[in-house]
Amino acid sequence: MMRHIIIGGSIAGISAAMEIRRSDAGALITMVSKEKPGAYYRPMIPYLIEKDGIDITFTDDPAKKYGIENIFEMATGIDAEAKEVALSSGDKLGYDRLLIAAGSGPVIPAIPGLDGDGVFALRTREDALGIKAAAKGKGDAVILGGGFVGTKAAIALRHLGLGVTIIEQQGQILPGRLDARGSAIVADAMRAAGIEIITGDLISEVIRDGGAVVSVRLSSGRTVKAGLVIVAAGSRPNVGVLRNSGIKTGRGVLINEMLQTNFPDIYAAGDVVEHADLITGMPAVSALWGNAEEMGRLAGKNMAGGNIKYAGFLSVMNATDILGIPVVSVGLIEPEGGGYEVVVQDGIDRYRKFVFRGDTLVGTVLVGDVANAGVYTNVIKNRVPLGRLKAEAMKEGLKYVDFVGSAPVQNLMG
Ligand SMILES: Cc1cc2nc3c(=O)[nH]c(=O)nc-3n(C[C@H](O)[C@H](O)[C@H](O)COP(=O)(O)OP(=O)(O)OC[C@H]3O[C@@H](n4cnc5c(N)ncnc54)[C@H](O)[C@@H]3O)c2cc1C
Repeated sequence: MMRHIIIGGSIAGISAAMEIRRSDAGALITMVSKEKPGAYYRPMIPYLIEKDGIDITFTDDPAKKYGIENIFEMATGIDAEAKEVALSSGDKLGYDRLLIAAGSGPVIPAIPGLDGDGVFALRTREDALGIKAAAKGKGDAVILGGGFVGTKAAIALRHLGLGVTIIEQQGQILPGRLDARGSAIVADAMRAAGIEIITGDLISEVIRDGGAVVSVRLSSGRTVKAGLVIVAAGSRPNVGVLRNSGIKTGRGVLINEMLQTNFPDIYAAGDVVEHADLITGMPAVSALWGNAEEMGRLAGKNMAGGNIKYAGFLSVMNATDILGIPVVSVGLIEPEGGGYEVVVQDGIDRYRKFVFRGDTLVGTVLVGDVANAGVYTNVIKNRVPLGRLKAEAMKEGLKYVDFVGSAPVQNLMG
């Protein structure tokens, strides 16, 4: 009987466990996870801040449905030679196959005064509930970082009635996730909702009075009132458990196309992984739910004896809604250097940008009108040459039916 251990009980870990169970009814599957009581939809945690009584846990309890043994502890180390995982309780668990699905954690910059009450990251359900409790009675909040997590936190706190200011060190919000024009449309909507956005500035100090946060000072010298600070400065892979294990890491765990680490019986999936981006070929971490699900699923298949190759992920692949504006960004959205054709359509209620290399779509930004975004995403991900469909892509939108009768349709669905 195969013994599988999975470190991390979120989407990558659960997807892997499901696939292992589908392939092997008798396998022992043990999930070591420090978040109790189990898996939930992490991207939905901002809603816990502003809404009461919403349930974001996975609908069918995966542990029950797929026969997974849960151990709610921290995995503290891996002995890849002895094939053992050490737990915070001091116990050791032997495995035949191990999956590292430990995800990522918030980056907390070293800023005087940041450490202490009134400062929160937004990574876990507990964080969100902590923010909700701390927001009661507070007038103002400052958000450190204008990425997706920062913008979502800002909107949730604004909906609770707080005055909210985002401080983003780069020149725009959602840097790397949206191009300048797409970002400006979103920023306008956020400002219209009463959220202040300061770009090109940094928090240099958190000012406290008797321990309580009262304001933040910026590098420019400006001071912004705040009873609460949310740190949304990005995430980094949770690789602490790999210390001294011999498992190779860069920024995250390095994997081959079978999702194996340098130890063939140890796999990795999800936010914890570093891998070449499909479009740029550069090492990247994904930090995206859909990518974590896909990596987990394929790793699980391979752990149970499958032989499926992973093509890799797009590190830019966002589909979200910001204050009612649908926003999609995929692939290479701000190409540098020659060899690209960029087509922009900027209208009253929609902004669309297409980046081509020859007749291959390598990136898109869709704001306001995201019709057929799934097709664009698949075309980019599978690097499908569009041929005569290139013109169609820029008109009313590519549809799957456009590909019927043309050779690339198979690649597209693959
Ligand atoms: C506020 C927010 C909004 C987001 N919105 C979106 C979105 O709109 N779209 C999108 O695609 N993605 C979004 N994401 C990102 C998405 O949630 C992640 O990409 C996804 O959760 C990664 O899944 P994972 O299984 O790899 O890791 P994680 O979800 O990070 O889970 C890893 C788990 O492993 C546990 N763990 C870590 N180390 C250990 C250890 N040593 N022992 C035991 N357990 C351990 C962690 O506590 C955690 O429970 C958002 C994230 C946040 C925080």
